[in-house]
Amino acid sequence: MYFRDDTINLVTVELIDGMKKTLSTRIKQAGRGQIIYFGRKYESTDVFSRITGKAMLVHTKICRMKGFLVFSAFLSMLLLPANSVMAVDWEAMRSQMIDMDITPRGIWNPAVLKAMKQVPRHEFVPQHIRKLAYADRPLPIGEGQTISQPFVVAWMSQLLELEKGMKVLEIGTGSGYQAAVLAAMGANTYSMEIKPNLAREVKIRLKKLGYKVEVRQGDGYYGWIEHAPFDRIIITAAANHVPRPLLDQLKLGGKLILPLGNVRYSQNMTLIEKDSQGKMHTSQHGQVRFVPMVGVAQE
Ligand code: SAH
Repeated sequence: MYFRDDTINLVTVELIDGMKKTLSTRIKQAGRGQIIYFGRKYESTDVFSRITGKAMLVHTKICRMKGFLVFSAFLSMLLLPANSVMAVDWEAMRSQMIDMDITPRGIWNPAVLKAMKQVPRHEFVPQHIRKLAYADRPLPIGEGQTISQPFVVAWMSQLLELEKGMKVLEIGTGSGYQAAVLAAMGANTYSMEIKPNLAREVKIRLKKLGYKVEVRQGDGYYGWIEHAPFDRIIITAAANHVPRPLLDQLKLGGKLILPLGNVRYSQNMTLIEKDSQGKMHTSQHGQVRFVPMVGVAQE
């Protein structure tokens, strides 16, 4: 079961297997045919009463109009046998993604390709947009954040020149997809996420999917000193400067990658290599657009 809050007025609810679960922290089932949203009770017409035990997809809209909160059921109400929902061939979609969007754009590293072929991206995106999981585009993951497009994940992973067993720190866990790709490549992966809700959800998701990633909630600006130094650091949020503590936590011979530039508009994919003397070498690889790194980085 999944719900998405697009704006304060619009809620989309998808029910996949009945009504027994709590809808979310904001939407609660009040009783048969009723829900509570932002503390107010709504009749849900026949939306919830048509649940038959079969898998069900329901989109529900709540509108605020002239001081009245009006509830209207709309869009599709599809009663589908549960197994037809399960029948999507995600593996084929992943192969297609690799063949169409990843390899033709210069990703050749076998470890990256293997990881991208394995990691079930659809498990990292909200239920209602799962079918878009293998499109080469970023997707919303809640809290105004996005999961990066598959190509960018592959590209950053390739630029890092990761080797099995390396210790990697990611700043900006988000959905956990990039972290899962790094873990699937054999990296000893640590990841930090500033938003408590995302951090809580991603810990559960990664554990459920069996990825060994240590996730900590907090501002990644200061890195993760207890596990430093790192062979590789990947920042998956835009910054207008490289956080000094992260450079300090990079091993000699290590690499750090981040979208560096104007956090409101566009950034350049920037790779910083720390040589054996501790000298930094910077290379830029092309324009990108990421959500901004928040917290101390913005001060
Ligand atoms: N790598 C993610 C997508 C990153 S979106 C994925 O694969 O899904 C950027 C993420 O960085 C967001 O989740 C945002 O909350 C987080 N973030 C922003 N500033 C941060 C900071 N200072 N420390 C840690 N995480 C931060």
